[in-house]
Amino acid sequence: MASESEAPRQLHVFFFPFMAYGHMIPTLDMAKLFASRGIKSTILITHPNVPIFQKPVEVFKNKNPNAEIGIRVLDFPCTELGLPQGSDNADFLDSAVIEDIFPIVQKLFFSTKFLKNQLEDLIETFRPDCLVADMFFPWATEASKKFGVPRLVFHGTCYFSLCVSYCIRLHKPQKNVASSSEPFVIPHLPGDIVITADQVTDNDEDDEMGEFITEVRDSEKLSYGVLMNTFHELEPAYADFYKKFVAKSSWNIGPLSLCNRGFEEKAERGKKVSIDEHECLKWLDSKRPDSVIYLSFGSVAKFSNDQLKEIAAGLEASGHDFIWVVRKSDDKGEKEEWLPEGFEERTRGKGMIIRGWAPQVLILDHQATGGFVTHCGWNSVLEGVAAGLPMVTWPVAAEQFYNEKLITQVLKTGLSVGERKWVDFAGDFTGRDRVEKAVRDLMIGEAAEERRRRAKELGDMARGSVEKGGSSYKDLSSLMEDLKKFRAQREM
Ligand code: UDP
Repeated sequence: MASESEAPRQLHVFFFPFMAYGHMIPTLDMAKLFASRGIKSTILITHPNVPIFQKPVEVFKNKNPNAEIGIRVLDFPCTELGLPQGSDNADFLDSAVIEDIFPIVQKLFFSTKFLKNQLEDLIETFRPDCLVADMFFPWATEASKKFGVPRLVFHGTCYFSLCVSYCIRLHKPQKNVASSSEPFVIPHLPGDIVITADQVTDNDEDDEMGEFITEVRDSEKLSYGVLMNTFHELEPAYADFYKKFVAKSSWNIGPLSLCNRGFEEKAERGKKVSIDEHECLKWLDSKRPDSVIYLSFGSVAKFSNDQLKEIAAGLEASGHDFIWVVRKSDDKGEKEEWLPEGFEERTRGKGMIIRGWAPQVLILDHQATGGFVTHCGWNSVLEGVAAGLPMVTWPVAAEQFYNEKLITQVLKTGLSVGERKWVDFAGDFTGRDRVEKAVRDLMIGEAAEERRRRAKELGDMARGSVEKGGSSYKDLSSLMEDLKKFRAQREM
């Protein structure tokens, strides 16, 4: 026990993300946020992903010389585990054929248990006060329990989608409809939310993946609680529902992206950006406020050439200025089959294509950006919310259709491009007319103004929530107090 003259020992938290950008980026933000509040943060990650963390951690340390943040590297022998070499590298999925992504990711889910011994060794050596581990590491709950360390689950999504999952697993309403495209109201969930079976991801499959998901749910029940990248004002009914019916404890500490305040921090998220950030901002500076639409589909989804051509044609027909992020790794240096003939000449000055990785948060936060076409990955959605932007929703896979319903049916800050079902990570097919209409409807008209007003209001609330005294700031304070109490009881 600390004597009365001794200062209380600093809290120490381990952060352990799954090896995908959508999980590592918010975890890095979380580790920085905790470090900025006086907690010692240690990020655990496998070798190939170290560069994603190293530079941002250095930048953060230079700005916050008193903050304690570090990285511990784990070994993950892919080939020994029957996985392709380097598949634990977040960039691996970039080079994978789209149809192979799902099987590889699933195998990765089942194989990460290999890391359990290394995690236990680290916990035993450093005795952290808490382990924040990704939802996809269900075995982490047992590993930390062995040493009396509380484990928090990080889902990386919102309350709303967790509540949708819960209600659908419980009531299986998708089994009672005549066809998979017939809309139904999700039972028991507040808000009369409408969805179709084609958009549901919780199908209780009786296979290895089904077993894995059951392990994930069970480990959540046995863990200390859940950490959420959201803020209370965004989805109060679903936060309450989740706390009442699903998890025993949860803390909202988002939007995590808002912990990046300066230019360098905002530009250094994920991969090295594929353009000159300064040039990109200069281009935006030359545009009117709220006039540019930004299109990005996250770090995994990859569209076919035919789909990309439709997007190009729809954008051009809409007449709006745009920044469009295109993830194509197979076209490098060759004729770009996915661009309509003469597209870039015709849209010169009006549009910018970023081939590869964009400084997303910098672009979203610029005053010239007035709309976001998003695949509804949760990080992107929340970054769009924090920037006060209305959105065109274009879900592709996973829980993205659920996130879409939050935007279109609850927050009413967006409209759907009309995707009906999920097909691998390549998406269904959306024609140019729908792209053109969605962009026009988002950017101009009375309904557009109303959506923009609501979006700006939410953006103000988002920024307020992370300021001193805001809901997310206070929730992190209360978590810190809880962890201190837990430690004191353990040490008694
Ligand atoms: N991102 C980025 N530049 C890009 C593409 C993505 O900075 O060109 C970031 C984006 O800001 C977000 C994350 O990568 O933080 C993607 O996570 P999300 O949950 O939106 O989608 P996922 O990649 O998991 O499908």
